[in-house]
Amino acid sequence: MHLEAIHLLVTYRCTYACEHCFVWGSPEQEGTMTLAQLRAVVDQAAAAGCAMVYFEGGEPMLAYPVVLAAARHARAAGLDVGVVSNCFWAESVDDALVWLAPFAELGVADFALSSYACFTESLASEIRLRNAVIAARQLELPMAVLEVGAPAAVADLGVACGEPGAIMFKGRAAQELACGELLRRPPETLTSCPYEDFSDPGRAHVGCDGSLQLCQGISAGNVFEQPLAGLSSAYDPLTLPVVREILAGGPWELARRSGLAPLRALYADECHLCYELRGRLRAAGRHLDVLAPDQCYGVGGGGVEEPR
Ligand code: SF4
Ligand code: SF4
Repeated sequence: MHLEAIHLLVTYRCTYACEHCFVWGSPEQEGTMTLAQLRAVVDQAAAAGCAMVYFEGGEPMLAYPVVLAAARHARAAGLDVGVVSNCFWAESVDDALVWLAPFAELGVADFALSSYACFTESLASEIRLRNAVIAARQLELPMAVLEVGAPAAVADLGVACGEPGAIMFKGRAAQELACGELLRRPPETLTSCPYEDFSDPGRAHVGCDGSLQLCQGISAGNVFEQPLAGLSSAYDPLTLPVVREILAGGPWELARRSGLAPLRALYADECHLCYELRGRLRAAGRHLDVLAPDQCYGVGGGGVEEPR
């Protein structure tokens, strides 16, 4: 695999517990990377030829000084840096300026801001997003807005937003949101993964346990056990269970080759079936080295792991 970017899941902990979260972020969730671990993975990313590292989660700004130090380390190693944050810290524009200024000085290439909690109708989170956008503009910090609901709070600021409503029904989203009118796809039509290219992934996530995740909860080794460059050059999707089935024919092929009949007549999307099957495989003790880490299956943080 030729990885361009590594996304560091700095922590699974978050100030929110959004229904659409596919890593089961919550205030109770466990699992946070140390500065030493972050620096080590940054060094591995540089050695493996990556161009960029993202700091995300959960909510990475919960570990603000650690993330800032790790971002400095990444810049010193010649890597571009991105951060994804939910803006919980932007109580005012002045506050947001203080939080963001060190990242602007560092030359961060992409600061992605969200008010994900507005999906659950939190006005306060929309105001925080607006404060953060204004501050980033003042600091000339390259910034994008990720939005799940309607981005009303920043509509008059002329900010380009992600496509509203672009939910992937995995993780907590599969459990909490995949219901009713959203269930329109028969399982036999879910024959490809629309979001990840397992034949040659250009990006991967690294969790706090070192798991190298091709999709959240689908791991191709552990960077704490084998360096990223080695994992990357040895990567062969056809040798990895779950990965090879999804590559061959999406979640439907995973169901077929695993001998698991889908539990529903209709699904919300490919991820919905994929996540159901992966949960059932884990419950049966199958492919636990690939189907990791636990956090991505709702273990800890108030999640209930169960096949849906
Ligand atoms: S979607 Fe984002 S803001 Fe919401 S719980 Fe997950 S990590 Fe936190
Ligand atoms: S279909 Fe499966 S592998 Fe593909 S993005 Fe969805 S959950 Fe991940």
